[in-house]
Amino acid sequence: MSPPHSQTAGADVAANLARIQARTALAARGVERDPAAITLIAVSKTQPAERVAAALAAGHRAFGENRVQEAQGKWPALRAVYPDAVLHLIGPLQTNKVKAAVALFDVIQTLDRPKLAHALAAEMATSGRRPSCFVEVNVGEEAQKAGVLPAELPQFLSLCQGELDLPVVGLMCIPPQGEPPAPHFALLAKLATRHRLAQLSMGMSADFEDAVALGATSVRVGTAVFGERAP
Ligand SMILES: *Cc1c(COP(=O)(O)O)cnc(C)c1O
Repeated sequence: MSPPHSQTAGADVAANLARIQARTALAARGVERDPAAITLIAVSKTQPAERVAAALAAGHRAFGENRVQEAQGKWPALRAVYPDAVLHLIGPLQTNKVKAAVALFDVIQTLDRPKLAHALAAEMATSGRRPSCFVEVNVGEEAQKAGVLPAELPQFLSLCQGELDLPVVGLMCIPPQGEPPAPHFALLAKLATRHRLAQLSMGMSADFEDAVALGATSVRVGTAVFGERAP
């Protein structure tokens, strides 16, 4: 008898996680980096609950969500069972969702404008919770894309770190579609070094090995872990 569908999906998720960890380790060793220094963030946005449960059951703990409201709906129940799960917000954050985001997420990867920086600082002061922040950089300087322009990064960091005392730990980017990502990853790494930021969130399903070779400390992988997302 064939196993029910949810078990099949669960076995796939565990195998995918193991395979991606192995590929990440190989890419790290290729540039003499310690694979343990790289966190695989499993991007669970829009994925069915049983696939997320399968990843947790397989021992995985770092997850990425791109919408505050969706994460609020699914994570409190999962967190009750797995209190050590670590949640990263990887999608745009509106200021009216800051309170909920600070309450729910351990890491906010999309700090990208002064208004949001001020709102986060105020909410952190009120709540006493201080999720680590990444500044999102618009490495491709795309007009419609979120993120701070590379040229504006020094001033933005001095606002976030100097004036507002936000816990900024690193930089994050989403390179332009249809371009080789490596030059964008290299730029993000250069900016992080220049500003003495230790962490780099870059690389997705299609390009995480390139990102690891160029210094990523976390990669955000969705479809390669969980399969295609529902449209
Ligand atoms: C969805 C998403 C990912 C994961 O993309 P995949 O191609 O499915 O691996 C990574 N980062 C961000 C910001 C995303 O929104």
